[in-house]
Amino acid sequence: MAAGAIWDDEYESMPRAEIEQLQLERLQATVNRAARNVAFYGQQFEELSIYPEDIQSLADLQRLPFTEKEDLRDGYPYGFFAVPLREVVRIHQSAGTTGRPTVVGYSANDLRHWTDLVARNLVAAGVTKDDVVQIFFGYGVFTAGFGFHYGAESIGASVIPVSHGDARRQVEMMRDYRTTVIIGTPYYALRIAAAAEEMAVDPHSLSLRLGLFGAEVWEERVRQEIESSLLIEAFDVYGLAEIGGPGVSYECECRCGLHISEDQYLVEVVDPQTGEPVPPGQEGELVFTTLNKEAMPLLRFRSGDISRLDLEPCACGRTLARMSRVLRHSDDRLIARGMNIFPEQVAEALTPIPGLGREFQLVLDRTAPLDRLEVHIEVAQDSAPDNVGGLIKMEQQVEEQLQSLLGMAVAVKLVQPGSIDTTQGRSRIIDATQDD
Ligand code: ZN
Repeated sequence: MAAGAIWDDEYESMPRAEIEQLQLERLQATVNRAARNVAFYGQQFEELSIYPEDIQSLADLQRLPFTEKEDLRDGYPYGFFAVPLREVVRIHQSAGTTGRPTVVGYSANDLRHWTDLVARNLVAAGVTKDDVVQIFFGYGVFTAGFGFHYGAESIGASVIPVSHGDARRQVEMMRDYRTTVIIGTPYYALRIAAAAEEMAVDPHSLSLRLGLFGAEVWEERVRQEIESSLLIEAFDVYGLAEIGGPGVSYECECRCGLHISEDQYLVEVVDPQTGEPVPPGQEGELVFTTLNKEAMPLLRFRSGDISRLDLEPCACGRTLARMSRVLRHSDDRLIARGMNIFPEQVAEALTPIPGLGREFQLVLDRTAPLDRLEVHIEVAQDSAPDNVGGLIKMEQQVEEQLQSLLGMAVAVKLVQPGSIDTTQGRSRIIDATQDD
């Protein structure tokens, strides 16, 4: 299989009317199962006097309430499982940025489908069985490492499960094993590129050709930076731990939006404030309903991810709807002293300041009488001041910048390059008040 190949022609290129028919059949079965086997849904249906038979069209789905992350946390650990535990063969969890974790269970069939979705994703980016795939997503309870691992094995590629860690070691392995494909978070890829430069490893001497990146919001300029520093083509991938991990949507060779596996997931776009559907093409929050999950079906799960949909068929031959790359998370914000603070705002304010690296973290402490916000920022590898006086001056300069942007006192702490770990994605915010 080569570039332009499609892993599952039947489902990836199905005419829209057929996809919608398939979705309706699977939706009805899912609603039935959820109402019967998950107490949370059974109770909800009863309270609202809704019967599974009321779902006669895809639009009828809007009669059902949303499932929120908070609901999943309340169901910790097994409250959302629709099968007995003996039929669950894998358990993952998502840490989230604050609060209790959410748990995801998989039946043997769920794992098979998951592997297949990731295979679609890899093939769409041009990965073949001749590739050597180095995965630096974290393994463990986080879904991305294992998700890509089994997907890549299933298409016959040679998989190196490095997980994350020392970036220099990643470079050595890339060089020695002649890795052709790398998979992980985009900012860690940049760290690897920086490590290669430090080690004087010329990217031309490596065998890399493709990279698949996700689990955090990244922009086009980051893609260009990864591509030019590692000499690869970079693809965006999207997954959501709560509905099953990576493979939810993926870019094809056109890189004009991410194809959603609509035979497995029904997606809606709603206004994040009102919850009302927004017209096609308009920005809103993605809401997912699983269509084929045995162990943990979810109805109208609010992702918190802001994107927009394009239903037009794609030049690649796939008919699956495309979502724009995630623009931001509606819930990825800190509320400090009654104000919303978005990490993107902070990133923007930091960009023009020379000597700063890319990684930063917002650490909020609510135990003081007034919320206290600390911003930890990595200094750049080579352009940072090399004396304490210089560093203190720089901290003050950044503090002033952030204070005027956020309108509140901020303590800035500059830290060594590589000391902030964002390889699990979405960890720009730490609520130091909670002890999870
Ligand atoms: Zn396409």
